[in-house]
Amino acid sequence: MTNSLVLVINSGSSSLKYQLVDTDTGAAVASGLVERIGESDGYITHKCGDEVIEHRGPIPDHAAGLALAFKMFDDSGHSLTGAGVRAVGHRVVHGGEVFYKPTVIDDAVVEEISRLSTLAPLHNPPNVVGIECARALLPHVPHVAVFDTAFFHGLPAAARLYAIDVEVARAHGIRRYGFHGTSHEYVSGVVAEFLGRDNSDLNQIVLHLGNGASASAIQGGKPIDTSMGLTPLEGLVMGTRSGDVDPGILMHLNRSAGMKVDDIDTLLNRRSGLMGMSGVNDFRELGQLIEDGSTAAKLAYDVYIHRLRRYIGAYLIELGGAEVITFTAGVGENSASVRADALAGLQKFGIAVDPGRNTAKSRTARVISPEGSPVTVLVVPTNEELAIARAAVAITT
Ligand code: ADP
Repeated sequence: MTNSLVLVINSGSSSLKYQLVDTDTGAAVASGLVERIGESDGYITHKCGDEVIEHRGPIPDHAAGLALAFKMFDDSGHSLTGAGVRAVGHRVVHGGEVFYKPTVIDDAVVEEISRLSTLAPLHNPPNVVGIECARALLPHVPHVAVFDTAFFHGLPAAARLYAIDVEVARAHGIRRYGFHGTSHEYVSGVVAEFLGRDNSDLNQIVLHLGNGASASAIQGGKPIDTSMGLTPLEGLVMGTRSGDVDPGILMHLNRSAGMKVDDIDTLLNRRSGLMGMSGVNDFRELGQLIEDGSTAAKLAYDVYIHRLRRYIGAYLIELGGAEVITFTAGVGENSASVRADALAGLQKFGIAVDPGRNTAKSRTARVISPEGSPVTVLVVPTNEELAIARAAVAITT
């Protein structure tokens, strides 16, 4: 083991992802997923090279899950408690106004992240639990929080503010924070490198399309707008989230259907988006349903694409024209039809997708626009774990 190894932890409410990253090579030395935490039928899948080890059985809480994962590192010959790991990087969803760069974690930082749970009740509490458990297991290694909101901290005021009563907004921390920042920052950096361009001289649109989805407009390496807002609910249509809706719908559901705030929260976060419209949230399953002739699935797809095109159009105007449009994350990297449909009929704006390039199988960064196209369209695999690991090294060096 070298001292370039960073353990990256992404702790959710009932699952926890981890990856041991070699920041010298960028490779994932090992990775795993702890699922169904709190259930009697929990399971852990741990990958190390070609070897996959599984654990099945009750995982009462995050601490137990992480301890089991650490044991799997031991079992596969890469003990984490030895001297090998130089830092632990934690993905933290909401940094509020307080955290706008990677931050070495101490008790006060944990308390502050916990306090920000009012802004991210679904995300920050499990992030804090993951941090506490990992600190207990690796107490002598620096732990670093990397915030999903950080990249968008400096959004221009016109993009950052909601047009609501300023006193109410100020009192309750209501502004557009943006999320997936680690991915948007990483991907836009890779784009500049890939094109051999100076990032400070580039106008980009990045489309992060995974289960969660967000778009950003990046000018000279700095975001000038993004589709997610106070929470990760705003913007594009997602796997289970609605994205943009008329806020009047919330009042209507409350008054007319007697739905309480928690019901509406569940509706918009878990029972909307592709899931709400078609019954599935996974894009591959959606594609299969469309092939099988499901009109509901086709409608969900059409709404998804319509929303995506609306944001692309808005960002082209905000940027005064983009030089690069990049697709990333599960759907963006893998769905040729989404890429083709999102940018169909935009030749007038110098935007086109080459069908052969778009459908070519590849796992690396690539151009999918035709040779000589005024706007370069790219597919770039995101790697949030590597970005978090590098941030943790940078701040602890
Ligand atoms: P997250 O990190 O937000 O959980 P991912 O970036 O892993 O999500 O993206 C998951 C999405 O990517 C799922 O909807 C999945 O169906 C989709 N996806 C993965 N592979 C493919 C594929 N080959 N074709 C279409 N969609 C895919």
